[in-house]
Amino acid sequence: MTVKAYGTRGSSPVSRSETSRYGGNTTCYRAASPCIPAGTALVVDGGSGLVPASRDLLREGRRDLHVLMTHYHHDHTQGLPLAPHTHARDARVCVVGPREHGVGPREMLECLMKAPYFPVDFPRVANRFDCREIDPIGREVLLVHPVEGFHLVRVDEFEHLRSGGSVSAVPFTRASLDECLVVWMYKALHPEYTVSYRFEERPTGKVLVILTDHENTDSVPEGLRAHVDRADLLIQDAQFTRGEYEAGKAGFGHGTGDYAARVFLETDARRLGHTHHDPLHDDADVDAVVAEARDWLAAHGAADRADRVFAVADYQEMDV
Ligand SMILES: [Zn+2]
Ligand SMILES: [Zn+2]
Repeated sequence: MTVKAYGTRGSSPVSRSETSRYGGNTTCYRAASPCIPAGTALVVDGGSGLVPASRDLLREGRRDLHVLMTHYHHDHTQGLPLAPHTHARDARVCVVGPREHGVGPREMLECLMKAPYFPVDFPRVANRFDCREIDPIGREVLLVHPVEGFHLVRVDEFEHLRSGGSVSAVPFTRASLDECLVVWMYKALHPEYTVSYRFEERPTGKVLVILTDHENTDSVPEGLRAHVDRADLLIQDAQFTRGEYEAGKAGFGHGTGDYAARVFLETDARRLGHTHHDPLHDDADVDAVVAEARDWLAAHGAADRADRVFAVADYQEMDV
């Protein structure tokens, strides 16, 4: 499994010479795996990075796009109206996300794509869209199989399949489950109902966790610990320095480098990539957040892990 960052900035896109190393697109990650069917692509979030991601995916011949939404804040949706897949006649887009305040993926798209905010009303493209709600987070698991495609099933159905049973309308056996990319969901700590995704590539055992728009807590809650447990790559929100956080950014729904380091250490994850970089941060400030994470690890007897922490840059491709 590999993951390519197309957008690592939080809150708003940026463009200035001092941010050129990490980039300025808002959140979008593309996960690639042999478990994903041919002609299909899987991305997390539709921030401004979705526009170049969609262009690349169409060039690869991947006309069937699945977008897993963490939540619907502007920095995670603003690429959807302008992504080439949204307007290509032979493309298909499946948008998966939570429902809150009466808004699921379909209502979000209807809101984004209408006058006076956008010249193309969503109903004009809706016949190529498939909108699926996750509700509630943690009760379902997404199975991705190279032949059978994408299926959202309840966790109890998944456990039944895993124990050798069968579930009507779900084309999996215990053996074919082991050919899947299994996507688990966890509710992040953020002002809106926000999903973190854990991708388990069962044929290789590799694990990727994307945990963005997640605020610090005083400890690592048990549910989060299980969700991140031994991830090969943890991509986590580290928008602020500790000083900024304590000087007024606490409660905004974002985290610090030292807290990300704590989650990384306590879950025995293998690598930690910071994401959701603050739009006011220059590259040197993003590096300072990484330095705080490394200092925290050194102060907690884990200096040997310091070089496994980095800040993710736009267009960086990572092996999981
Ligand atoms: Zn955000
Ligand atoms: Zn947010």
